[in-house]
Amino acid sequence: MGFADRYIRALGAPNLTNDGRHHHADPLMAAAFAAAESTGDIGLLLYRVKYADRLSAQAFEGNTGNLAQLLRLWTAQVTRRGRARRWVPENTAWDAQAAHKLYRTVAEHSLAYWLDSTCKACAGTGQAHAGACAECGGKGEAPIACPGGFVRERVKDMVSELHDIAATQARLANRRLRSR
Ligand SMILES: [Zn+2]
Repeated sequence: MGFADRYIRALGAPNLTNDGRHHHADPLMAAAFAAAESTGDIGLLLYRVKYADRLSAQAFEGNTGNLAQLLRLWTAQVTRRGRARRWVPENTAWDAQAAHKLYRTVAEHSLAYWLDSTCKACAGTGQAHAGACAECGGKGEAPIACPGGFVRERVKDMVSELHDIAATQARLANRRLRSR
């Protein structure tokens, strides 16, 4: 289980409140959070986490307040996408509760994987002593591990959404830099 994974699991309870104290130390991160809160667009935030220098990414992932907030925002997005794609029915209270649990599970797994998808068996090298790493097939990227094919397919889907959102933001940022 990866670093980000452990942290997200440690967060556990769904009612973690916002922790506004820590990320305000980084004005760019604070701006990204503010944008995500007001527009629901988490692109800038994801971009900061993924493409900012390694040190600030580590600081971000080491801060459970940041992760709790990002997970909350991402869960809202996954819920919106899951409903639009009719993953499961929500006709009864029981259905709605099960659906909510599914959205949350998919959000947790996809975000954890996106934050840290390095294969733990070979530390991302793709190599093991006898040749290619058996765990990841030499790709250096961990397989998506979660219970049940239904959930796994949705996690895969949301991991690629996270890549898309961050990549779109990276393109926007690059265009802005070039036009200066
Ligand atoms: Zn491996």
